Amino acid sequence: MPALAIIGSGPAGYTAAIYAARANLEPVLFTGRQAGGQLTTTTEVENFPGFPEGIMGPELMTRFEQQAARFGTVIRQGCEIVSVEKTAAGFALKINDLYQGTETVEVFQAVIVATGASARYAGLPGESEFLDGTGKKTGLTACATCDGAFYKNVPVCVVGGGDTACEEANFLTKFASKVYLVHRRDVPWPIPRSRRCGTRRRPVTSPTPRASWRPLSSRIPRTAASLALR
Ligand SMILES: Cc1cc2nc3c(=O)[nH]c(=O)nc-3n(C[C@H](O)[C@H](O)[C@H](O)COP(=O)(O)OP(=O)(O)OC[C@H]3O[C@@H](n4cnc5c(N)ncnc54)[C@H](O)[C@@H]3O)c2cc1C
Repeated sequence: MPALAIIGSGPAGYTAAIYAARANLEPVLFTGRQAGGQLTTTTEVENFPGFPEGIMGPELMTRFEQQAARFGTVIRQGCEIVSVEKTAAGFALKINDLYQGTETVEVFQAVIVATGASARYAGLPGESEFLDGTGKKTGLTACATCDGAFYKNVPVCVVGGGDTACEEANFLTKFASKVYLVHRRDVPWPIPRSRRCGTRRRPVTSPTPRASWRPLSSRIPRTAASLALR
């Protein structure tokens, strides 16, 4: 029985594969529908160590793949895992081969899930037009850590009122001349204790000098978002 299955071919999946392959665990990596993960949808990646001039997202992910393959990772392109079931024998993975149109089951001793995440957009008019994965050129991005540095000394608006929006707004105060956090409620909402994370509450409970938390009317988000789109 193969020792290890890795589900996902983003940076997390390939990093796991490189380490596992070098530890002789003979990993089998299932790429899923988006081979190479989210970074294949962007242009220049500037914050990756080892690439002082930056590197294009797809090229970076090709290098990840080559490095994992070099140490013996079996890469199963176009294979999506439909379910994982714990059995007496191990973990039974139902594999949907998107190229062959077949569905099979294989059993592994262990599984690493590296299926990533994706941004949930606001669905505003003009959003898809401006959001093409090159945040620095378009003025609209879904990742402050990735693109915040491109917005030095300009006012920036974060649309959203959850933990992630607060964290991103907090991060952006390092660059932007002003950060607006636009949300739908009149007051900061109570986050259940079970979901609280100290650092993520910071923009609400102790705003940094340049972060503002002001209730806005429900009509504002669209206005603010369209400002950000310009
Ligand atoms: C437009 C854009 C620009 C970005 N720019 C930067 C940047 O400049 N710098 C930076 O640090 N970060 C950037 N990011 C964020 C970065 O891409 C993510 O943090 C990173 O890709 C997360 O890696 P991951 O391996 O966890 O998941 P992902 O990259 O999301 O990969 C998930 C993988 O799981 C696979 N998968 C999902 N479900 C299944 C399944 N059922 N079966 C098999 N496989 C499955 C997918 O096919 C995919 O290969 C950017 C993101 C976007 C969208």
